[in-house]
Amino acid sequence: MTNDRKISDLGEFGLIDRIAAKVGSAAGVITGIGDDAAVTAMTQGMQLLTSTDMLLEDVHFRRSWHDPYRLGRKSLAVSLSDIAAMGAIPRWALLSLAIPADLPLDFIDDFTRGFLALAAEQGVALIGGDTCTSRAGLVVSVTIMGEQLPGRILRRSGAQPADDIWVTGRLGDAALGLKMLGFDSAQPPGSAPTGSAMAAGCSLNGTEGKDYLLSRLLDPTPRVSTGLALAESGLVSSMIDISDGLLADFGHIAEQSGVGGCICIDNLPLSAAFRLCAGKLPELHDQMALAGGEDYELCFTAPPENREKIVECVKKSGVEVTPVGIVASLPGVAVVRADGTPCTLQIKGFNHFK
Ligand code: ADP
Ligand code: MG
Repeated sequence: MTNDRKISDLGEFGLIDRIAAKVGSAAGVITGIGDDAAVTAMTQGMQLLTSTDMLLEDVHFRRSWHDPYRLGRKSLAVSLSDIAAMGAIPRWALLSLAIPADLPLDFIDDFTRGFLALAAEQGVALIGGDTCTSRAGLVVSVTIMGEQLPGRILRRSGAQPADDIWVTGRLGDAALGLKMLGFDSAQPPGSAPTGSAMAAGCSLNGTEGKDYLLSRLLDPTPRVSTGLALAESGLVSSMIDISDGLLADFGHIAEQSGVGGCICIDNLPLSAAFRLCAGKLPELHDQMALAGGEDYELCFTAPPENREKIVECVKKSGVEVTPVGIVASLPGVAVVRADGTPCTLQIKGFNHFK
């Protein structure tokens, strides 16, 4: 019976073989899993982009609420989001796992299935990794590589005064999903529960809205095709993905571009489920929309004359974009209401060591 089997029954090499057996051949992969290093061929004229992310049990996720299939998807999604934010084409991934010896084999099978499903959807090949035992929970580390023509790569540092500030999709859903599980995005899942959003007074009719908000947390969609379309369009001056909340992440653009900005909190794109659940709680509503982490949407800047072309450009990728503010020449990020009055919230994004 497979469902009683543990990782320890299989051993390191048995597990690597099991993962490798599910990986097919892919364009650009000359030597994949199995040798001391993978060998890949880049597209001529393109530059290599590399990014790595860790997901730690009880810091980034809990096994009690993150099913292994969606955890596998999310492990790759957060890395894909970094490649998307640079406007690059994701190509290859490395998957490193530190696994508690008593973890059921089914868990890793489902995790791998999720990881490889998203990899196939995005045209990414798994070319290697590392596998070892863990005495302190499951640790997942994903390194992703992508490529792009030098002139198309989008950085955090290109924003210009008077540019519009844009975001893709909807904000705050993932943070509200986390709140529903009893945690706060200002604190990691390792800390004590702060009370569920339901208990705090949120109401959602039926389970549809709740499922939607949870899926935005547990199975985020990296905006790869949107990032790519924007990079190819030449319309955009800077870009970042929103992993720590819009306020913190636009703050990185501002800092690295040597500018500031003004964000209109009433213009933030919010989902129907978010409005329904958080609408009655103004403090929660504003905190989650402006500073909620893990939405993995994109924030970018562009000259105002490109407005219509930008809407047209991203249409094909099936994602909506919304202008939410304006880049300013003086440093600092202000938040205002639609009528221009300043918003005086004590808001912070998540920071691991604070
Ligand atoms: P080495 O000891 O030389 O580092 P390993 O025994 O760790 O080699 O790995 C053998 C092969 O299996 C390598 O190609 C490595 O990239 C691959 N590999 C190891 N762990 C994983 C994993 N979790 N997912 C995918 N490939 C892996
Ligand atoms: Mg190794």
